[in-house]
Amino acid sequence: MALKVLRDRILEEGRCMEGGVLKVDRFVNHQMDSYLMKQAAIEFIRRFADVTVNKILTIESSGIAPAVMLGYLMELPVVFVKKKLPLTMEDYYQTEVRSFTKQRSYNAVINKAYLTADDHVLFIDDFLAFGNASIGIVDLCRQAGATIEGMGFLIEKEFQGGRHLLQQEGVQRIESLAIIESLTDSQIKIKND
Ligand code: 5GP
Repeated sequence: MALKVLRDRILEEGRCMEGGVLKVDRFVNHQMDSYLMKQAAIEFIRRFADVTVNKILTIESSGIAPAVMLGYLMELPVVFVKKKLPLTMEDYYQTEVRSFTKQRSYNAVINKAYLTADDHVLFIDDFLAFGNASIGIVDLCRQAGATIEGMGFLIEKEFQGGRHLLQQEGVQRIESLAIIESLTDSQIKIKND
């Protein structure tokens, strides 16, 4: 079941764009509804109640808001993977990620100090589409020897197949708070609606 408040916002304020893109910049990607982020974080806590994690992982920039809200409520550190190598970062893991919305590739990097073999992480992001960003996270965690205990997304576009790819890569727990079945003919169709 979708988180009702999120489902309602998607249907009321989401816009279908060219190429299977859902624009939600009124409440997620540009202007952010912090209360909605809190409600999403509470729902993630409920859904992942059975997993034990010591760190929330996300990727800049739109994953940061829900991840920080979750980290705050769970009193856990939040680490965001960067999409550009800072000059000051010396010892890092990196992986190449294809960006769906920007139609280009970038190197995702994380400081080795913030992802280690002791970590049991919950990865949080705004969207699961084709799964490229998440597969990058799987790769970074593999390099670090960290364990992914679960992945949580605000919105999953089921028709783009990211979940299947992640399952093939061994990610066991995937929770999406709203699953989009299709955006055909500019109609947003949400699963179980
Ligand atoms: P993926 O790597 O799974 O193909 O795409 C995930 C990333 O692309 C997310 O972090 C998100 O920022 C962006 N993204 C993918 N699809 C959409 C979309 O429909 N709308 C928006 N606003 N961002 C998207």
